[in-house]
Amino acid sequence: MNCKETEKMIPLFLTDKLNNRELSHFLMHVENCGECMEELTIQYLVMIGTSLIEDGKSFDLRKALNELISNADTKIRRWKIYMLLSYFAEIITIVVMIIILIVVIFV
Ligand SMILES: [Zn+2]
Repeated sequence: MNCKETEKMIPLFLTDKLNNRELSHFLMHVENCGECMEELTIQYLVMIGTSLIEDGKSFDLRKALNELISNADTKIRRWKIYMLLSYFAEIITIVVMIIILIVVIFV
């Protein structure tokens, strides 16, 4: 994923509209690209920060954004573990089916 694609996804990230695969690619890029992280920070401030500041609440932008990214990271980590377990379960099912077939045919 390049910077242009990542930049287009920022509003979708901030409104939680990326699917897990998109979110995974987005996070991987943003966490390793200073420019996109800066753009994310700016758009986050504009989208979310402005309304909070209008409400008169004190607001730690960096901390709030770090939390948002950290929560998304956790979500993706859980999703990857779930996918891995799903593949594992599928493989076990296939192996068991093959064993049953062999037993039925040859025993
Ligand atoms: Zn970038």
